[in-house]
Amino acid sequence: MTRILIAEDEPGIVSFLEKGLQAAGYTTLAVTDGIDALSLARDEHFDLLLLDLGLPNISGHEVLRRMRSRGDRMPVIILTARTGVDDTVAGLEGGADDYVTKPFRFEELLARVRVRLRDVDTGTSTVLRAGALTLDVHTRRATNGDQFVELTAREFALLETLMRHAGQVMSREQLLSHVWGYDFDPGSNVVDVYVRYLRRKLGDDVVDTVRGMGYRLRV
Ligand code: CA
Repeated sequence: MTRILIAEDEPGIVSFLEKGLQAAGYTTLAVTDGIDALSLARDEHFDLLLLDLGLPNISGHEVLRRMRSRGDRMPVIILTARTGVDDTVAGLEGGADDYVTKPFRFEELLARVRVRLRDVDTGTSTVLRAGALTLDVHTRRATNGDQFVELTAREFALLETLMRHAGQVMSREQLLSHVWGYDFDPGSNVVDVYVRYLRRKLGDDVVDTVRGMGYRLRV
């Protein structure tokens, strides 16, 4: 039985999440407050936490900070209506495993939940490898051969997405929704810009352009 703790104070989102996750076979428990989330995460076993940032009493950021500082490694996916880069960086640096920007499609959230639960099941896929590249999604370290590579949070998220689908073509839309969230302008060229950044740091031959389709990490 896989148990998912939901910390979210908007009733509509809670029922949307609970219905969908229960239909997918998960057991859920929802709390509307950061303090309840912290005490439940400590006192009961959960496999994953879906954490809203804007919670009453203590914020999602603070919940995460306290969990990590007491050594709790439970996978955490942040649910956020905030789209600022600073929030994302703060979330990932604070020890979140992933984040989803509201509004989101349930299928997308479910895919991310499954990835995080698989990480826990196998205990190995927290380190991704492709060719000479290694990405540790917990410590947020990237290496190319034996060289450490400094990546921004967004570059890291883009590379992680490409590495999780190494050898497959990812469309711009897929990369936008994985890395930037749903309400991003689909006409934006931000994916192309960040692929250029990655090539600059990792070498031109790491990511292939597949004309008319998108990008593919070379394996
Ligand atoms: Ca909220």
